[in-house]
Parts: sequence; structure tokens; C-alpha cells
Amino acid sequence: MKTILIASAFTLVGSCATTKYTTKIQNLKDSIQIVDSALVATYANTITSEDLSNEVYTISSDNFEGRKTGELGQKLASQFLENYYIDQQIQSPIDSTTYFQTIPKSFLPKDTKVSENVLAYIKGSEKPDEVIIITAHYDHLGILTDGQINSGADDNGSGTAAIMEIAQAFKMAKDAGHGPKRSVLFIHFTAEEIGLGGSEYYTDHPVFPLENTIVDLNIDMIGRVDAAHQNNKNYMYLIGSDRLSNELHYISEKVNKTYFNIDLDYKYNAEDDNNHFYTRSDHFNFAKNGIPVIFYFNGVHEDYHKPSDKPDKIDFEELTKRTKLIFATAWQLANQDHRLKIDNGIIQ
Ligand SMILES: [Zn+2]
Repeated sequence: MKTILIASAFTLVGSCATTKYTTKIQNLKDSIQIVDSALVATYANTITSEDLSNEVYTISSDNFEGRKTGELGQKLASQFLENYYIDQQIQSPIDSTTYFQTIPKSFLPKDTKVSENVLAYIKGSEKPDEVIIITAHYDHLGILTDGQINSGADDNGSGTAAIMEIAQAFKMAKDAGHGPKRSVLFIHFTAEEIGLGGSEYYTDHPVFPLENTIVDLNIDMIGRVDAAHQNNKNYMYLIGSDRLSNELHYISEKVNKTYFNIDLDYKYNAEDDNNHFYTRSDHFNFAKNGIPVIFYFNGVHEDYHKPSDKPDKIDFEELTKRTKLIFATAWQLANQDHRLKIDNGIIQ
């Protein structure tokens, strides 16, 4: 999906320049060499609907009380995530004693208690200073006054589970001698539901310099099928992929074509889309800092921000496919020869 900027360039410059523009796009597409396709296929297949199901059911269980930022349920969820990374022997980028980036009360909205982002990473073998970030928030809305728990299975148990599985796939590859060339950082953000607080804190206090942060692939709600796609579940909305880097957009497209053939829907990437989803999840704090992003999203549904967002409504087959695509895209970005190019969405 092209931006308005490019559409108007067509109208202004006429057919001769249009040809040149088309050639430039074709050159860009042709320059993308898919890396390690056999390995990507092998390790993508370690991501299973059974594992994703276990993780979504756990993270959205009543034990975590709707994971409200700063409250007991969110603390238990952060502990669950830390234990997972310890168990998987995936390191913390912070220090040997904690996976938590603590966000002080003063940074958060009034009456919110101290809260935690959870970070884990796999160090790159050749370019460890260049970092690919995969993010999803794990906080949600907590308990209603009538006692009903906002389970947040789709929002964002789905993204939380996806990161856990992607991290495990990268770790299994590394253990077999196929670690990523660039570092891959996994961040579970808190305080998303109360104003993107976790990601804002991270970009204000990055663990790795933002200058060397190559991309943020942000996952927020990828486990459901919206009303518009009841007859074609094989879809996902992508938002932002071409805003800062056309190369990112075409890499994402080519990886999808090579392995999965999901219908990538760019409806919500339109700059005049009045839902403004581009500004509504954690990737936006990276985009604001000039870091290319892709926001992966299934669209809204009738259970959005309601206690009825339960795990039995997740389509685990689609969640699995979508998670594999994000893994394969991250692999390409972590392992291709050159660092992703930034062009602010303009083909030069
Ligand atoms: Zn939400």
C-alpha cells in the first residue's frame, strides 16, 4: 500500500518519471535476497499452535487478574515471563540478576504503582551492536468493579505468547550453531493500556542505543479474525511498514510470499485512516525516534476491551501462521548482509 505522498508524486511528474519510479521500486525489490530459507523454515516450524495455546491460556488465566499495570496480577505475569526466559536459558540484557526494567511511579499516570518491562535477548554473532527489537505489551485492564476479569487473551495474550515462541525459535537455532548475526531483543511492555508508558520509558532509557536499533516489530492483538475477514481468515493487518523504510516494506512482503502467503492488509496503514492505529500501540514510540516499525494487528472485534476477550475465542491456527511470519521477518532483518535502510518512505 503506497502512501499519499507517493500517489501525489505520480500525478505531478507524469509518465516518464513514473517509469523511473517503477524501475526504482523494481530495483529495490530485486535487491532483497532472502537469507537462510531452509533454516527459517525449520525453525519457524518449532512455533506450534499447541505451545501458543498453552501460553495464551496461561497469560489470560484468572490468576493474573487482568494484568493491570502496577497491580498484583501484572507482577505475577512479569514473574511468569522472567521464569520462562530463565527456563529457556535466554539471557537478560540488563544484568545477571533481573529481566525487569523498572518504571518508577513518577513516570506513570497518577495513582499507578511502580511497574516493569520484561526484557530478554540473544546476542548477535557478527554485529552484536545492531539490534532487532520484537515487542508486545503484556499489561491489560484488570478487574471491573463487579468482579469480572478482563482476561485480555487477544489483547495482548496473543502477542505475549508470540514473542515467547519467537524467542524460543531463535534460541533453538542458536543452540544448533545458527545464532543471529545481529542481536535480537524481546520486550514485553507494561503500561500500554494506560498510554504506551512502557515503550515510552524504554525509548527514553534504551538498553541499547537507539542509533543502533534497526527496527521494532510490534505485536498487539493477532489471535482473532475480525468481521471483515470471516470468509478469509488468512490475513493480517500491517501498519507502518513503508513509513520510514521502503526496504522494510518490501522485505516483509517478500518474506511473506516466500514462506506463508498471508493476505497482508494495508487498509489501516492509510495516513488518513481515522482509527489512527499507527499512533495507538507501542511501536509508535520507536517510530517517533526515527526507527522503522511494523505493527501486526488482527483488527478490532466485539470483545475488544471487554471481559469476553477470552482464550477460547482465539484462532490458534491463524495465530501460529502470523507468529511464524513475524519470526521469519525478524530472521531476515537480523541476518541479511546490510543494515536495513531508512528513506523516510520516499523512493530516491
Ligand atoms: Zn488494549
